[in-house]
Amino acid sequence: MTSGTTAPASRTTDAAAEPGTAERTPDEQAADHTRRLTAAGVHTVAVTWVDNAGITRVKAVPARRLGQTAQHGVGFAAIFDRALGDDSFAPGGTPDGDLRLRADLTRLTALTAPAGWAWAPGDRHEQSGEPAPTCQRSFLRRAARRAAERGLTVRAGFETEWTVSLKGDPDEPRPACGGPAYGMARLLEMAGYLAEVHAALDAHGVEVLQLHPEYAPGQFEVSTAPADPVGAADDAVLVRETIRAVSQRHGLVPSFGPVVGPDEVGSGRHLHLSLWRDGHNLCAGGDGPGGMTGDCAAFLAGVLRELPALLALGAPAPASYLRLRPSRWAGAYHCWGVENREAALRFVCPGDLTGANAELKCFDGAANPYLLVGAVIEAGLAGVAEHLTLPPPVTGDPHSRPDRPPRLPVSLAESLDALRGSAPLRAALGEPLFAAVEAVRAAEDAQAARLSPERLAHTTRHRY
Ligand code: GLU
Ligand code: MG
Repeated sequence: MTSGTTAPASRTTDAAAEPGTAERTPDEQAADHTRRLTAAGVHTVAVTWVDNAGITRVKAVPARRLGQTAQHGVGFAAIFDRALGDDSFAPGGTPDGDLRLRADLTRLTALTAPAGWAWAPGDRHEQSGEPAPTCQRSFLRRAARRAAERGLTVRAGFETEWTVSLKGDPDEPRPACGGPAYGMARLLEMAGYLAEVHAALDAHGVEVLQLHPEYAPGQFEVSTAPADPVGAADDAVLVRETIRAVSQRHGLVPSFGPVVGPDEVGSGRHLHLSLWRDGHNLCAGGDGPGGMTGDCAAFLAGVLRELPALLALGAPAPASYLRLRPSRWAGAYHCWGVENREAALRFVCPGDLTGANAELKCFDGAANPYLLVGAVIEAGLAGVAEHLTLPPPVTGDPHSRPDRPPRLPVSLAESLDALRGSAPLRAALGEPLFAAVEAVRAAEDAQAARLSPERLAHTTRHRY
């Protein structure tokens, strides 16, 4: 884990990319991009989006078709809104309908891993040109805009945990290294690999804050600099695919699933966020709990209230609940604490005017980062609108306290019920997106009911 400082960074996906680009037509801008990519030896661009099951889906296009792909998109079957992690589809989908996946060239990135490729995140549009109501990235953009209309800016960043195994029998994953948790010995064993992960992230424009061995066998973590909400979700996608590409180059198998085995400490993907107004971090400089301002406390109280429902987006796989267990620093209890690593909401660096932020520890890498960050913002905005206040913070391991706080949902079925009952999240997602998410969760929950914990871990460990 890291403190995940949340000072505003300069990159944003909202602003015009470079000085002087305003006068150039979209076609001219795309032609510039194509020229630059071609000069760098890049001929193909992967345009990604993340589906409701948390799988990154892709269409690749020739670099010379960038302008076309940015303005009119490439076709993507609408049924993928109901795609499950095993590539089957939840009931209710039909072969009809096509959405247009448009590359966002403000985030176009030439990749060093894999070399010869570029990447851009995509937004899904209707053929009429309107953003598709089920487009998760557009949902997040709307949530950020709704915060901005209230004078609030959210900065966010993810910590990515992953494990690395040797190639071999997928039923018997063998960690790629030994060495103790957080151990220098483990780092040295994997120093070449980790240096390459760092260099590739750097080359891809993702600023690394920390990189270290984690607790479980073969497990590592990278945390990256905070960004605007859409930028943070894009970073989460790029970080994972970069690690995957470098791992493959080293003949290693990365796992981003919630657990490798049902009884091990799992991999989280914690979300850090801070709230700003007029350039001031509202997480500090106030007279609320932990030194936060009233607005920050109300925002976090809204997030805390909705945590059971948010889990259906942030811990969206049946296997997520193999990870989300007490005393594993995964945040299994419905409470918050100041620097408490067992609280689902950990308030970090209290009093630090630039660095104070909140860490949501209960989320994992099966989450669609766009859906998750958007929903967290909406939950927080509801808290601000309703002037909610935070309960007292919890100290120590909630599991061993006599006044144990409630557990968060212990299954996907429970968190899906909470999502169904969450008026603010239901309204924010809108009916088409809510219905698609609900169908996917219900279908994955039904599939998992037939599996032992071992099979469940096995089927999801290399899925994401
Ligand atoms: N691996 C733990 C998890 O499942 C988190 C450890 C940490 O606090 O970074 O979320
Ligand atoms: Mg960690």
